[in-house]
Amino acid sequence: MAKKWVYKFSEGRASDRNLLGGKGCNLAEMTYLGMPIPQGFTISTEACTDYYDQKESISQEIQDQIMENLAWLEEFNGKKFGDPSDPLLVSVRSGARASMPGMMDTILNLGLNDVAVEGFAAKTGNPRFAYDSYRRFIQMYSDVVMEVPKSYFEKIIDEVKDKKGIKFDTEMDVDDLKELVSRFKATYKEAMNGQEFPQDAKEQLMGAVKAVFRSWNNPRAIVYRRMNDIPGSWGTAVNVQTMVFGNKGETSGTGVAFTRNPSTGEKGIFGEYLLNAQGEDVVAGVRTPQPISTLEQAMPEVYKEFMEIAQKLENHFHDMQDMEFTIEEKKLYFLQTRNGKRTAPAAIKIACDLVDEGQISEEEAVLRIEAKSLDQLLHPTFDADSLKAGEVIGSALPASPGAAAGKVVFTAEDAKAAGVGGGGERVILVRLETSPEDIEGMHAAQGILTVRGGMTSHAAVVARGMGECCVSGCGDINMDEENKKFTLAGKEFHEGDYISIDGTTGNIYDGQIATVDAKIAGEFGRIMAWADEFRRLKVRTNADTPADAKKARELGAEGIGLCRTEHMFFEEDRIAAFREMICSDTVEEREAALEKILPYQQNDFKQLYEALEGCPVTIRFLDPPLHEFVPTTEDEIKKLADAKGKSVDEIKAIINSLHEFNPMMGHRGCRLAVTYPEIAKMQTKAVIRAALEVQKAHSDWNVKPEIMIPLVCEVKELKYVKQVVVETADAEIAAAGAKLDYEVGTMIEIPRAALTADEIAKEADFFCFGTNDLTQMTFGFSRDDAGKFLNAYYDTKIFENDPFAKLDQTGVGKLMEMSLKLGKPVNPSLHVGICGEHGGDPSSVEFCHKIGLDYVSCSPFRVPVARLAAAQAAIAEKAAKKCDKCGSDSKSFVDDETKAKLEDAAKKAEEIAKELAEQSAEVAKAGLEGLKAGVDAAVKAYKEARNK
Ligand code: PEP
Ligand code: MG
Repeated sequence: MAKKWVYKFSEGRASDRNLLGGKGCNLAEMTYLGMPIPQGFTISTEACTDYYDQKESISQEIQDQIMENLAWLEEFNGKKFGDPSDPLLVSVRSGARASMPGMMDTILNLGLNDVAVEGFAAKTGNPRFAYDSYRRFIQMYSDVVMEVPKSYFEKIIDEVKDKKGIKFDTEMDVDDLKELVSRFKATYKEAMNGQEFPQDAKEQLMGAVKAVFRSWNNPRAIVYRRMNDIPGSWGTAVNVQTMVFGNKGETSGTGVAFTRNPSTGEKGIFGEYLLNAQGEDVVAGVRTPQPISTLEQAMPEVYKEFMEIAQKLENHFHDMQDMEFTIEEKKLYFLQTRNGKRTAPAAIKIACDLVDEGQISEEEAVLRIEAKSLDQLLHPTFDADSLKAGEVIGSALPASPGAAAGKVVFTAEDAKAAGVGGGGERVILVRLETSPEDIEGMHAAQGILTVRGGMTSHAAVVARGMGECCVSGCGDINMDEENKKFTLAGKEFHEGDYISIDGTTGNIYDGQIATVDAKIAGEFGRIMAWADEFRRLKVRTNADTPADAKKARELGAEGIGLCRTEHMFFEEDRIAAFREMICSDTVEEREAALEKILPYQQNDFKQLYEALEGCPVTIRFLDPPLHEFVPTTEDEIKKLADAKGKSVDEIKAIINSLHEFNPMMGHRGCRLAVTYPEIAKMQTKAVIRAALEVQKAHSDWNVKPEIMIPLVCEVKELKYVKQVVVETADAEIAAAGAKLDYEVGTMIEIPRAALTADEIAKEADFFCFGTNDLTQMTFGFSRDDAGKFLNAYYDTKIFENDPFAKLDQTGVGKLMEMSLKLGKPVNPSLHVGICGEHGGDPSSVEFCHKIGLDYVSCSPFRVPVARLAAAQAAIAEKAAKKCDKCGSDSKSFVDDETKAKLEDAAKKAEEIAKELAEQSAEVAKAGLEGLKAGVDAAVKAYKEARNK
């Protein structure tokens, strides 16, 4: 039997998400629920993957199935595709498994041509509407399918409006629209080297399907996937749906709505609509939409039906819904529903409310929060005092919460160059409106301010997704994008001027207002408490200063997993002594210099232990190559020369001698301690003395330092350094006449350490994966330079993600698993963690849970992210185990083919039962029960057979 690639909406269910994509499976579910859905069919995600496998072509088999379904759709609607008197028109929309709003392509009004438009006008009795639909279609098709720039068409629209002296598109009459059609077609022909705009509706359809498949790999979709951990292998489905028209006059309209407020989580319908418009008008933000509540006066019946269905959808999916709807001459249609994107505060409120309403369990609530999004909760707000002095120069829609201050930039490119990942400056991107091409620039900015657009405009939706502050729709701004300036409240602002925006209130301020960090409380605390209850992994922090350690503790850190001691040496009061140490000629000289640093280090460690209140503290010994510490200016070199009683040239010669061709693989890590054991001795003294002091002051704490030796590749190396540490530590403890436990462990950050972990485990109390170096050395990519060429790897699809941000589970992960498998049997009390950057990345945390690490350690602000990700990993694992045991839930106990057959049988049973119902309700009931029992028996028999 031929593989099935295309499914009518009536053939799917919500559980078919992987095959039909989010939009497709929800349209199927709504069809199943008997809701008013314009019917259509879904071309599966597998067809998209096949398209790429077949070198970007749609196989004949898939084309045939599309045509078969089209024929069915024609029959269903009683209209023919491309019919000159009453044509069927469809929309063609993308729909991946995970929602990627605005990232891929959509084509509306497909099926119109020069003849059909006349028939359509006659049939609807509304030529204006027909020509409006046609000109929109030509515009969209040219842009999306043939890649003729949108701006060519926008320019023509402006010319036609200017000529007539009108402002809005809606003021154009039928003749204006006919002129647009004719000029658009001419533009198309010119751009396409003499090729006419396609008149064959089936050709239009195949072109559109291909364009949607193609859009899966457009640059903005690729960036979005990288930012949201969506694999490129998933592909998108394509939904072909009968068009309904919101632009048929004042009794028609279109809108988007949420069942709860996506910014705050407040319960209640929240949405916008426009009369006499198509969907693109609402999201494009060109016209300012009406709040949904006004629909009650405009069309009370439609409003009532809308509210009922919206509520039904939320109750059915047990989550906040984001719905698109169209009203065609007072008849309401739902075009799609999905679990709505929301800000992190809204996600938390909604999850807690749904638990309180009895709709979901606490575990589900924890799963509902996207771990990465917690970053948003930790984003700054304005400092109250500084805010009082702030001058409000405007206000618009509070589109995405948070506060930001920065320099004005006018283009996404400038934001990218100056902002995060570029120049590192704080910038506010100010635009007329944003479009999907701007995504990287939006990401690089601290905040976004737009002149046009509502709460559901591109800028608002994308900013909320990114957790970035956004104020949208500030019509008071007089914008001159070309000359990079705008006027607001009588003042002209240029590139580089400072402004501040508040995405929670919508206020815009002149100048820079200081920001303060967010405080975690209330419902956030509830979610985190549930997460802590469910997770197994401990979460520690990477902190080098008492302030960082305190912050991390506040955010729930259960220890320090990495203190990079070298950061302490850079401080003003100790760098001089450290440089003296580097430039010493003898052990004695070095010891004398180190002696000066010892009290500082001891005090640093003391403060760390205090901040952590008895929780474990891992202190890593000196790691970077010494040349990183040497002076660079003549002044500093002279100072050092004077301190050491050497000439400037002698110091310069020492500095030159420290130069290495490959310093990341050079004289660093434990190699320093092997060469200069006195450094390890000094650090051990500082660690132990501080611990003794704090233990004495807090007898109820268990102060147990964990000394971590970096960059070990050979057990004898570790053994050598460990001996120095143990002798020094034991002598210190004995001299104090006290008792103190401590541990000596190692980082696993060189592949050889992983490969010989059974040897190393004999000497180590713990392992901690330094996945920054482990990634660097496993790939052979410099961690400092890979960024320069990784873009080429994304473009050529060799990589989907930066392996320094998201753990490479296939290679680096295999080394981690191997280390555990080799190490644990040799040393059963060995405890194992991770302290590379991956320790705060949700998918990497999940991997760490799966392979059985004891803890992850990450920067302070990522601690809540890691806590939540660890809980989600534990819940998912528990659910998977439960499925395996009972053979139910999402993980089926049957293979896909058998499952499909059983489902088919069940479906047939239902169909027959429905037929019978028409004859006799009683017979039908008995028939259905009988048939269902038959299917159950088949399932049971299969299970028994399998268990045997
Ligand atoms: C690592 O290599 O992963 C690590 C944590 O150490 P550093 O980043 O300091 O090299
Ligand atoms: Mg390292």
